[in-house]
Amino acid sequence: MHRIETRQALQEWRDQLGDHAIAFVPTMGNLHAGHLSLIQCAHRHGQAVVVSIFVNPLQFGPTEDYERYPRTLEHDLAACEAANVSAVFCPTADWLTPDIHNTTHVKPPKQLTQQFCGLARPGHFEGMATIVLKLFHLIRPDIAIFGEKDAQQLAIIRQLVSDLNLNITIIEAPVIREADGLAMSSRNQYLSPSLKSQARLLSRLLASAQSAYSQGNTQANTVLKEALESVLDAELYPDFELEYFEAVDQNSFQPCAMLSDNSRLILAARLGQTRLLDTAMIGDPLFLHPDLAQLEI
Ligand code: AMP
Repeated sequence: MHRIETRQALQEWRDQLGDHAIAFVPTMGNLHAGHLSLIQCAHRHGQAVVVSIFVNPLQFGPTEDYERYPRTLEHDLAACEAANVSAVFCPTADWLTPDIHNTTHVKPPKQLTQQFCGLARPGHFEGMATIVLKLFHLIRPDIAIFGEKDAQQLAIIRQLVSDLNLNITIIEAPVIREADGLAMSSRNQYLSPSLKSQARLLSRLLASAQSAYSQGNTQANTVLKEALESVLDAELYPDFELEYFEAVDQNSFQPCAMLSDNSRLILAARLGQTRLLDTAMIGDPLFLHPDLAQLEI
């Protein structure tokens, strides 16, 4: 496996690959099973797999966790090696983003950035799109794999690729969950045992809305409200602060009043200082551990 830190080394590695189909997995490192599932997906679609590990300063707000975001490069390199990755690109912030206050920014359409996560994190999606575009130019992949867990990010990447005529196929990979339903995330490790236990409410809200839909209820407002009423118990979940819980059309990413199999549930919540996301298609029941129903705080 090649560990690549400079632009020149990246170009040399890239040039010798010739016509091989290159599948790219962008990450911020601290790899977990969710990331590894993206790497497996990349192996199914490409002949050479490249992973980037870069904690992108442009996508963090001034009061967010950029400094304390978990950085575990040696562990990540070993995980990539074990997963048969051809190359890991791990540039320093000094050369990839030398002056974050004075750089060209990609500006995705407001319709996609100024709601949901974009409201809570102004500038986040511009920073994300800017770095992803830079990585696309440097790595020149044929295929790039993104997790549906960051569903708004994925919608923005798809639009970016289409609007800027990039010759890259975007593939989405499903959410990998812990046994109790909590979507895996590098930020889960910020949670105390009590907050972690309350965090399972995210997947329970999704499952509850899916269940209402499967019983024939297609009014988005009613389904979301009933899901909240049925599982959100302030006594059991005192630290769970819901930021949004919405149903959007999977293609346009705009809220939908009537649900169909094309509707995606999205939600964000704060558990103390930690902000977590989850998502599911309304008609695709979550894969949850069989013991989930029995688990209580
Ligand atoms: P991150 O390192 O958190 O920026 O994530 C890198 C990529 O991994 C993104 O495309 C995420 O959507 C994806 N990802 C993160 N968590 C999961 C998960 N639990 N299951 C599947 N993909 C994930």
